[in-house]
Amino acid sequence: MKMHNFNAGPCVLPREAVESAIEAIRNFDNTGIGLLEISHRTPGWERIMAETEQLWRELLNIPEEYEVLFLGGGASTQFFHVPANLLNKKAAYLQTGVWAKKAAKEAKFYGEVEIVASSEDKNYTYIPKDYVIPTDADYFHITTNNTIYGTEIRKDIDCPINLVADMSSDIMSRPIDVRKYALIYGGAQKNVGPAGVTFVIVRKDVLGKVDRPLQTMVDYRTHIGTEAKNKSMFNTPPVFAIYVMHETLKWVKKMGGVEEMNRRNIAKAELLYNEIDRNRMFVGTAEKEDRSIMNVCFVMAEKFKDKEADFMAFAKQRGMVGIKGHRSVGGFRASIYNACPLESVQALVECMRDFEKLNA
Ligand SMILES: *Cc1c(COP(=O)(O)O)cnc(C)c1O
Repeated sequence: MKMHNFNAGPCVLPREAVESAIEAIRNFDNTGIGLLEISHRTPGWERIMAETEQLWRELLNIPEEYEVLFLGGGASTQFFHVPANLLNKKAAYLQTGVWAKKAAKEAKFYGEVEIVASSEDKNYTYIPKDYVIPTDADYFHITTNNTIYGTEIRKDIDCPINLVADMSSDIMSRPIDVRKYALIYGGAQKNVGPAGVTFVIVRKDVLGKVDRPLQTMVDYRTHIGTEAKNKSMFNTPPVFAIYVMHETLKWVKKMGGVEEMNRRNIAKAELLYNEIDRNRMFVGTAEKEDRSIMNVCFVMAEKFKDKEADFMAFAKQRGMVGIKGHRSVGGFRASIYNACPLESVQALVECMRDFEKLNA
């Protein structure tokens, strides 16, 4: 049976990226030695590092004055790296979900944190709109896509101070104006690769402004280094994760870049949201204007509440994987990242239609 992977992260990857990684583990770059067994100082690997950075720069149009880093530790480590490097007195956070809340919690170790707005009152089903960004804060932190709740800030907001964004689950899903941000970070395992590598895009001039001393590994300047060939290689980089990211981004480029990803993602999301809105048995959980094109959250309509387990079993029989909603939302969540094919979304929509025919 054909499986349709809607996992929220780690999640579906482009088939050819996976195949290429398998081959590289056997024989990297025609060296006769596997990717996991070479030194990260061999020229072949240095080329992969340089190409991966180049793909990021090309695909997102990243200006010269920004550095692109590949680190370990996941987005959760960035929750404290960011304030360690950027927070002198005060930082402002927009609380749009538990990831945003966790990010703010870590910032409190370094200074004052102002939560400018929160949608916790309605279980994060919307993005707060009426808030004022304090101009005396060192930066304003947002989470562009709220993976658990299926809400998304799908434009590059205007911000009077340094803007920092956790883009773990929507990076490369649409073109962005990098210049609007001082720093962008995220774990790779939703849209750009496997778990194990974390991307950081940072404008160089925001670094080195805090008064506190920083541990070597926490200081972004360590990872930038002084020589291009050492970038992100102060210590051993997560070579396997970076290799798969390299192959994933090559695929994005081949498919037509982030404009094409955006076009496809919108088409997939519209197809699924239209079915949720049409089908009598389901309702979407997020406010329509804030709906995410990456994570689509829905529950059984009130009248059909007792059918949840039935639908889960029905969908499973049809090859749907990973559609169980996060425990804090319940119901269902279909994560339809870049590598999720339209056919999978079509199959899910058909599954919902057939379930309605049989039950409603
Ligand atoms: C998954 C996720 C995280 C956590 O990422 P880790 O790499 O597991 O630390 C943080 N923020 C968002 C928006 C996420 O989706």
